[in-house]
Amino acid sequence: MQELVQIRPEMETALQELPILQYAVLPVSEVAFEQRIRFVCEHECPQYNTSWSCPPAVGTVEECRERCSAYTNCFLFSTISEVRDITDMEETLGTRMEHEEITREVVKLFQAFYGEVIALSTESCAVCSKCTWPDAPCRNPDRMFPCVESYGIVVSELAEKAGMDFMNGQNIVTWFSVIFFDRK
Ligand code: SF4
Repeated sequence: MQELVQIRPEMETALQELPILQYAVLPVSEVAFEQRIRFVCEHECPQYNTSWSCPPAVGTVEECRERCSAYTNCFLFSTISEVRDITDMEETLGTRMEHEEITREVVKLFQAFYGEVIALSTESCAVCSKCTWPDAPCRNPDRMFPCVESYGIVVSELAEKAGMDFMNGQNIVTWFSVIFFDRK
C-alpha cells in the first residue's frame, strides 16, 4: 500500500480489519477531472440520464471538480473478487455489491475520523430497483455513491498514479472507490 499522504494511525488500524486489497492517499490536486470522460458517458453509457449517481444529475465536470476541491485529500482503494469467467457479465457484476458494502464501511470510518466526505464508487447506483431521477429526490442519499467516471475521473489512470494495480489476474474482478476527505 502506497501512501503519498499520511492518514491517522488509528484509521490505518481500522482499515486493516476490512477486506481491502490496496489503497493510496493522494492530494486532490493530483486528481484529473476530464471533460472527455463526460463525452463517453453521454454517447456510450446506457446509464446516462437514468440515475442520481450519473450525469447529468451529478452536475457538470467543473462542478464535480469544485465540489471535490473543497477537500484536501482523497483515498483510493480496491477490492477483488474471483469469478469463474470474467467475460460472464452477470457473474462479474454480481460481485459489485460486496464492494459497495465495503465502501459503505470505509465511508463510515472516514466520517468518524474526518467528518464530511464525498464518496464515489462503481457504476450507476443500484440501491433502488428503479431510480427516482428525475421526478423526485434520491430516496437514499446516504447510501448512494456517484460513479467515479461520472465526475470525469479515469480510475485506471488514478490507480497508476498512486502505484496501485488495476488488473490483478485472470478471472479476478478489481473494483475501486474514491473518498474525498479532510475538508479545507
Ligand atoms: S438510492 Fe435510489 S433514488 Fe438514489 S440514486 Fe440510488 S437508485 Fe436512485
